[in-house]
Amino acid sequence: MRICGWIIRKKVFGRIVIIEVSGDTSIKPHVLVLKRDREPELFKLGKELDVGSAICFEGDVSPIQKSKRGVEYLVRRIDVYSTPLDPLPVDTIGKVPALLDTRIKYRYLLLRNPVEKAVFRIRAGIIEAARRFFIERGFMEVHTPKIVAAGAEGGATLFPVKYFEYNAYLSQSPQLYKQMLMASIPRVFEITPYFRAEKFNTTRHLNESWGIDAEQGFIRDEEDVMKTLEELISYIVDYIRRSYAEDLEVLGVELKPLTTPFKRLRYDEVIDMLSSEGIEIPEGEDLTDAAEKKLGEIMVEKGYEIYYIVGFPWKTTGFYYMRKEDGIHTGKFDLDYKGLEIASGGQREHRYDKLVEALKDKGLNPENFKFYLEAFKYGMPPHGGFGLGVERLMMKMLGLQNIREAIIFVRDRTRLTP
Ligand code: ATP
Ligand code: MG
Repeated sequence: MRICGWIIRKKVFGRIVIIEVSGDTSIKPHVLVLKRDREPELFKLGKELDVGSAICFEGDVSPIQKSKRGVEYLVRRIDVYSTPLDPLPVDTIGKVPALLDTRIKYRYLLLRNPVEKAVFRIRAGIIEAARRFFIERGFMEVHTPKIVAAGAEGGATLFPVKYFEYNAYLSQSPQLYKQMLMASIPRVFEITPYFRAEKFNTTRHLNESWGIDAEQGFIRDEEDVMKTLEELISYIVDYIRRSYAEDLEVLGVELKPLTTPFKRLRYDEVIDMLSSEGIEIPEGEDLTDAAEKKLGEIMVEKGYEIYYIVGFPWKTTGFYYMRKEDGIHTGKFDLDYKGLEIASGGQREHRYDKLVEALKDKGLNPENFKFYLEAFKYGMPPHGGFGLGVERLMMKMLGLQNIREAIIFVRDRTRLTP
């Protein structure tokens, strides 16, 4: 057996050297036991090797297993490929905690540590699970442009890009494009970056984050979409529990399965619940961060970790949501997990005239949305969808306190490298 990786820990006890290698074949380190009397050459080499070296070793699983940290090996051969030029700037076994800033800067090294690695193995698992889920249900994966001419939510939150002689922006959401595709492919999904130029500095916002987006056509109302989303999330949770049990254990996370259907709360009901707790939301405004948190506490007490808020008023939503007959509410919903919004979605307006009206009502110029509106002229079915934040979902599944823990390379207000 030949295994490759990096030395993350080395201990020398007189006649024995113990080396832990973090490789890619398991979450836990491989433990190399080198004895002076048994393999004198390797013992000598092992004593000299620095933590951080990139090596491969050949050997077999040892019949004696004493280490609790990983599988022990009897080693026949070690090849050294690269040794560190400087001592490592971070501790890759996680004994010496580093500040978040340092951890972000050197995350590519910290990923040698099983705990750090587990977070991002699970991230990959979430994406893998989402893809499986959608493919099993006949959704087609699509890729929509990330350089766009108009944003779904209006100008203030867009990063401008010079695009030859045109003004362009980085896409904040695949919203408009996935809707246009409802004219021909009634079930699509996309795993995509969102670029948002808000100057926030919070523990739940990034300027480049990732979303799992879906859109489906021929729906009756937003309930069809909510069903897809709740099934997706419980599928992801089950998948991670099953396929990443060891990673969860390394992280010390007990991930509870979620039962569907999720609880539904009406926006108006939420406003009343918050009001009786002393939190007043001005009429027609979105929930604040603090309000979301408070609601989370109330709901967890009642035994609901995850719940929908439905029927957002038109005043709080994007232009593309379907208005209800009362003219006040819409088919927009949020999904909150332990007091944090992790997804938004709903039924969209598919009628051309109403959509033009909606744009005007929101103070947007229909001229700028011509390419989008055009798609609604040729048999657009009723449709709806959602955008689910990958990092937000990870935060709540894994109990991460800061969204910057959920993405390898961070783009926020002050970070443009590494
Ligand atoms: P918030 O109000 O919490 O800032 P939003 O309502 O503006 O989020 P949406 O446009 O609804 O965000 O995007 C869909 C989902 O994408 C959100 O529910 C969230 O999970 C995620 N998301 C959106 N913006 C960000 C961001 N800046 N950083 C991290 N995740 C984000
Ligand atoms: Mg939202």
